[in-house]
Amino acid sequence: MLPGADDPAALKAIARHADAIATVRDFAARSDALRVVLLVDLGDESPAMLDAARGGAIELTDEGEAHAVPAETPVPASPRALPDIRPAPSSALRADPATGELAAPIGAIANLGHAVLGLARAFGGRSVATAEFATHDPDLPMTIVAREGEPLLLAVGDGRFELPHRSMPEPCTWCGTAVESWDGYRAYEPEGGRRAVFCRLEHVVPWAIRGAHWEPMPAAVEGVEDGLRECAWCAAALEGDHVALVRARGEHRIADGFCGVGHLLEWAKAGGRWRAG
Ligand SMILES: [Zn+2]
Ligand SMILES: [Zn+2]
Repeated sequence: MLPGADDPAALKAIARHADAIATVRDFAARSDALRVVLLVDLGDESPAMLDAARGGAIELTDEGEAHAVPAETPVPASPRALPDIRPAPSSALRADPATGELAAPIGAIANLGHAVLGLARAFGGRSVATAEFATHDPDLPMTIVAREGEPLLLAVGDGRFELPHRSMPEPCTWCGTAVESWDGYRAYEPEGGRRAVFCRLEHVVPWAIRGAHWEPMPAAVEGVEDGLRECAWCAAALEGDHVALVRARGEHRIADGFCGVGHLLEWAKAGGRWRAG
């Protein structure tokens, strides 16, 4: 049993790291993470570590000493600002125990990755944030590790992946214009493991007319199960070989499915989701 919050050394550590405690609690509650670990960079001093279990109890290690901070202990600080967090239901995150590969709704992993990075960023410097999330298999949680300026790391079972860095723009498949990760459109052909990037919807049209040149999907961590059920143009039920178009607007991802490139083309020509009539 660790000394509790009535211990003077614990009180001092809690006061010193009140905003980190408040922020980790806020992150844990909003992300539905199984476990959150934050290493707070303190410059020349050794980092403080906050290890939060589900429910909000934190073990705080400061100056080499561990203190229990029960979930109900009040702290004199507000949480620091964090990005929008949209936890995916654990049933939607499917991990393969043999390969460690992960199937998730498009955008779900990127959102969680960005959220974990936001937690590390909130404390700056070399601070590291780690969060563990449930998948459909209770024995295979997914772990995301983030530190400012480094690629996001994702681990499931024995599998380890680097998530593409969020701030890296990608060229539009049609015109080459740089498309930021929070902007533009991305077309996916999940079954073929192929995708294309568009700076705007209008560029889907010449791309599709000229024979739909696809690029290989960057990393095997996204896509596959996008949850789309019917063609946004003809309402036909979608098969595994369908095409998806995902619009990025900041943290939001808006996905539409199509029975094939032909109906994606018709839909894009008509102005997409916001077409008149
Ligand atoms: Zn373009
Ligand atoms: Zn269709």
